[in-house]
Amino acid sequence: MKYFDIHTHQRPQQATEAVFSCFKEDYPLSEEIVRYSMGIHPWHLTESNADGHWQWLVEMANRPQVVAIGECGLDKLKGPSLVLQMDVFKRCVLLAEERSLPLIIHAVKCSNELIRLKKELRPVQPWIIHGFRGKKEVAQEYLKHGFYLSFGEHYQEESMRTVPLDKLFLETDESSLSIESIYQKAAHTLGMSVEELARQISKNRQKLIPGF
Ligand SMILES: [Zn+2]
Repeated sequence: MKYFDIHTHQRPQQATEAVFSCFKEDYPLSEEIVRYSMGIHPWHLTESNADGHWQWLVEMANRPQVVAIGECGLDKLKGPSLVLQMDVFKRCVLLAEERSLPLIIHAVKCSNELIRLKKELRPVQPWIIHGFRGKKEVAQEYLKHGFYLSFGEHYQEESMRTVPLDKLFLETDESSLSIESIYQKAAHTLGMSVEELARQISKNRQKLIPGF
């Protein structure tokens, strides 16, 4: 059984089934990593390094191993001013559109801003909120606007249950749990078998990242 992991910072054991999330600081990557997403994390941004990060990303996003842009996003609790975060995030959105890649988003207390931006920018590429831990109501708002939601080790069970199965992803992020145990936990929450869940998420992956 294959367990697709849409967002991890761990060197994946089954490299072909995970998207390793990589930043400028992680580069160069070891050869065993075959698929990655590249982004600019809002926590790493400052007024003075934003252009350097951006140049690196534009250059790197051309590589065939890059299957998504991210993580990038907005964080009201940590990082530089929201103005700077917003500026860099918008550039990442345009890059994802230009390269026809899905966008993996870090979001903390910024659902309204992200929904507003999605309405304004009308991206064709899918937007995936990673590590979703919010309440059911926030999940529903995102879903109403076509977002995908990815869940990791910690989440609210009723939020996960509100997500249609074709909008759902799972991830390890920085957790010490294996992706397999995250699938087991989620399958339990959803009242389905882990095989059925893995099959469904694999279908979602094929839709969003067909060249995987
Ligand atoms: Zn992450």
